[in-house]
Amino acid sequence: MSDKFEQAAIGEYERSANDIGKLKTTLTPLKRSYLRFDKIISTTIDESPTKPACKAGCSYCCYYKVEVKAHEMLLIHEHMKKNLAPALTTQILNSATENAAVIRTLTPKEHLATNIKCPFLIENQCSIYDVRPFRCRSFHAVKVESCEASFANPSDFSIATELIEEVSHYSDALSQGFEAAAMDTGYDHRTYDLNTALLEVFADASVEKRYKRGKKVFKTAIEVLEEAE
Ligand code: SF4
Repeated sequence: MSDKFEQAAIGEYERSANDIGKLKTTLTPLKRSYLRFDKIISTTIDESPTKPACKAGCSYCCYYKVEVKAHEMLLIHEHMKKNLAPALTTQILNSATENAAVIRTLTPKEHLATNIKCPFLIENQCSIYDVRPFRCRSFHAVKVESCEASFANPSDFSIATELIEEVSHYSDALSQGFEAAAMDTGYDHRTYDLNTALLEVFADASVEKRYKRGKKVFKTAIEVLEEAE
């Protein structure tokens, strides 16, 4: 990582660790981190001669395997309880239940090679856009054709998505800065499958307590292990 990305990662780590320490929670610090992330990525795109092809209503990437950190799912849960109509929440949870039944039959590699519609994708729009995870914020593509090809052939891992290098580096630096701050302040830093974590956060009131105590948060959700990818 070059100096400016390393500085961005360190700066994000320090701000977030300070915020988490003061507020004794990761949720408000995560919202603030998302705002800083969006601002830096937007400026980077403005300054880049290459632009993303992404636009509202294009949702090929919302059929990829989506992963979340525990703090991201807790923020999504809080946002859903405050902002989503009960009928929409039920629709999302039903969709996650159907997805989870399929995902639990797949190996991690098979999951990567399968199009599964994210439960939050409603009428081709993200229903939790303000609190979507870092993975979703980071994703972009320069050519929609590669997204179309990957969607049509999900098991063909040779299809490469052309990215804007600066955007990718800043995305990694900033998300890793926050994640390291959450980990170093004692919170669960594991990565989980989005669908099964979503079902557990609604089904088990102890999830939040485990998070606050620095324990492994999700007991039934699928944990994503790096070596399994
Ligand atoms: S959370 Fe939103 S942006 Fe991310 S995959 Fe789901 S619908 Fe798409």
